[in-house]
Amino acid sequence: MRIPFRPHRLSLNIALATGLFVALGLFLRGLLDLEGLWVDVLLVLAVTYATYAWMHRHTAARLARAQKTLRDIRKQRFDELEKAYVRPGDELNTLLWQVYRNGQVLEKEIELFRRTETYRRDFIGNVSHELKTPIFSVRGYAETLLDGALHDPEVSRPFVEKILRNADRLHNLAADLSELSKIETGELKMSRQLFDLPQLITETTELLEAAAEKKEVSIRVRIPSNITTAFGDPERLKQVFVNLIDNGIKYNNAGGHVEVVARMLPDHRIKVTVADNGIGIPSHHLNRVTERFYRVDKSRSRSQGGTGLGLAIVKHILAAHEAQLVIDSQVQRGSTFGFTLPSRVPDAAH
Ligand code: ADP
Repeated sequence: MRIPFRPHRLSLNIALATGLFVALGLFLRGLLDLEGLWVDVLLVLAVTYATYAWMHRHTAARLARAQKTLRDIRKQRFDELEKAYVRPGDELNTLLWQVYRNGQVLEKEIELFRRTETYRRDFIGNVSHELKTPIFSVRGYAETLLDGALHDPEVSRPFVEKILRNADRLHNLAADLSELSKIETGELKMSRQLFDLPQLITETTELLEAAAEKKEVSIRVRIPSNITTAFGDPERLKQVFVNLIDNGIKYNNAGGHVEVVARMLPDHRIKVTVADNGIGIPSHHLNRVTERFYRVDKSRSRSQGGTGLGLAIVKHILAAHEAQLVIDSQVQRGSTFGFTLPSRVPDAAH
């Protein structure tokens, strides 16, 4: 048998204890000058008992602790694990420590699983709730048309327009959901490149001009000439601008404006803000508006074709750019949404 260089501490303790008890027995036998078979038998029995008692004292409590911990883990009673402390010692202590560690890892996994499960349930609940309203409306209008309103041009046209509006809502919802799920699962990879920021902002505002005109809202852009490029994914950042400017239009009053401003910071990052002078967001809603499906005024959002997912998408895209969306708003005064972007390729050394 190969004796390992690093001794097995538990076996070594047993061997030492046995040796000590044998030596003690022999010493006593010599001291008392005892001889004969019965003395040897008694000596063996005494050493066996002493070794057993010592081993029991040395290991039983720890084995019981390990068994109890495994039982607690099986029954998912994790409270005790928090308090567990195992001193470094022999292999049994190492084993005990590993049992605790495994319990803690399992506790975290179960917690994560529960959170994911709650999120999934809430998400499905939210989606089905969002789907129900437009589907219900489409059905209602279609049934009314079939019941006779189809031949009444006074009624049929507005009803068909309402059906179309609800179909648009369903379309927006499907598009935003697919986008959000792609971003969240990491399926959608962000590209990293230098792009023309002023051009991207101009393209976006052109895209939203018709919507702005319809609501009698003007869009202004202020970008100084020292800002030319930014670094990031232009496609995704365009989506950020579309969502923020579109919100500035949607939650505004006739005659209002949306202003997109870029400013170069001393550290060569660009501070971008999209500000409006619209209805604003009450302060107690501010830290929740980026949650999925969270809306300050549900009916206003829905009537504007909102899905409640726009800012959640914006937040995710910016997070992938290591940028944070900062929101500042005052009711009836307006809102400002800001974030920063690098103006050039980040230095690999930093
Ligand atoms: P929605 O599709 O409802 O616009 P968003 O995620 O884009 O969803 O926004 C969430 C909510 O935040 C909106 O429903 C609205 O209540 C509020 N909000 C967003 N942008 C603005 C803004 N510029 N002014 C006022 N309220 C806003």
